[in-house]
Formats: sequence, structure tokens, C-alpha cells
Amino acid sequence: MCKKRAYRYSRRLCGRCSSWSSCIIFRAGSAFVILLFHSREVTCGLSGGVYFALEASAVVSEDNWSAIVNCDAGQDGRFYYSVSTTGIFCRPSCKSRAPKREHVRIFDTAAGAAAAGFRPCKRCKPDGLRLPDEEWAEAIAESIRLRYPERITLQSLAEEQHVSPFHLQRTFKRIQGMTPAAHLLRVRLDAARALLRDTRLPVADVGERVGIPNAAHFATVFQRAEGRSPSRYRQARAEAQGQAEE
Ligand SMILES: [Zn+2]
Repeated sequence: MCKKRAYRYSRRLCGRCSSWSSCIIFRAGSAFVILLFHSREVTCGLSGGVYFALEASAVVSEDNWSAIVNCDAGQDGRFYYSVSTTGIFCRPSCKSRAPKREHVRIFDTAAGAAAAGFRPCKRCKPDGLRLPDEEWAEAIAESIRLRYPERITLQSLAEEQHVSPFHLQRTFKRIQGMTPAAHLLRVRLDAARALLRDTRLPVADVGERVGIPNAAHFATVFQRAEGRSPSRYRQARAEAQGQAEE
């Protein structure tokens, strides 16, 4: 009888052709076996659509997971873990909030995590790797540019980055010349201008789309930055556009 049991369904990158495929992850003793199902377009040379890949290190074992959750310093140096939603990697002992398990990836070395594109955590400094403040501030700015429609606070950014809100704010401001909140507002207002210009969305919907769902608040901050209301801005742009076309 087969002793493997279905562990969970997931999606993974094929180690051979780098395409995303659905898979079932089995547990086999202390190891994991990943069964990938390739779609037909995939051309990695493995016909039949299915193959086995042993990728035990990429899967979070119970031991890894308990070390992460318990901040077990005894496991430091034995492995490193990255979190896909924040792009950073840590030592097991990092005193950060436990990430979601499905976002975690395990690496044998800090160099391996860095090579996979993750940045060393500012708090636990895996292997003494230090991320330059400039690079860090830019990564935070970029994450704001990508997620501005969501609810973002200084607190949530600091939690993601495993630092204090004070430290994040001070470093960001020193390098970017403005606070994270000011950068977020600037990104949101740029997006709002583009929507007012290029779409016919009602003003309240524009505010909502750019992460400022309170219509009165959106009108206030827009007016303060632009010197006119959202509808006046839209009107003026439409008139300027009309003149340009004449
Ligand atoms: Zn850390």
C-alpha cells in the first residue's frame, strides 16, 4: 500500500522549464514529494504531463515551522526563511510576527535566499547581511507604488519589514525626502489624476480606486494638493484636450 498521503494542493514553478504548474505535495516520511501537473503548452521535454520532483528543501517542514513560530535561536544558521509577500528573508529566531505558512520558503543558506531575489531582514540581519538603507527605502517606496489601492499604514509597513514604525519613518524620510504617508498620498493623487483624465468614472469611485474611499476626504486632499476640486480638474483637462484637438 502506498504510504504517501496527500498533503496539500498548490502551484509551483517547474524546476526544469520554470512554468507555473498545479501540483500535489505529498509527505513521504520526513521528506516531501511534489507531483507537478504540466499543462499542454509546457515544453520542458517531460512528456506525459506529470513528473515527480524532490524539492524537500523548498517545502516548510514541521520542524522548520515550529522553529519559525517559536523564534528558535538554536536553529539559526541551519536554515533561513523568506516570505513571498514582503520579499525579505530572516533567521529562524527573528522576533517578527509569524508569517502565513504558504508564503514561506526555506533556504539552506542566506546566499541562496539572496540569489532567489529576497532581501535580508533589517532586524535579524541573516549572516550579518545588511541591506543598505537606500535600497531598503526604495523597496518600501516600490511596494507602496504597487499596493496604493490597499489600506497601508506606517504600522503595517513596519510590521512587514520587522522594524519599529519610528525607525522605518525616520530612515525613509532621510532617504526619500518625505514620509511614507506623504509618498503614499502622492502616488494615490497621481493615480487619481490619471483616472480623472482618462476615464469617466464618477469622482467618488476614483477616490475609492486609489485607496481613499471616503469621498469627502478624497475631495479635501485633492483640493489641497491640486488647488482645485477633482471635477474642476477633470473639466479643465477636458477643455485643454478639446483645444488641442481643434
Ligand atoms: Zn528578520
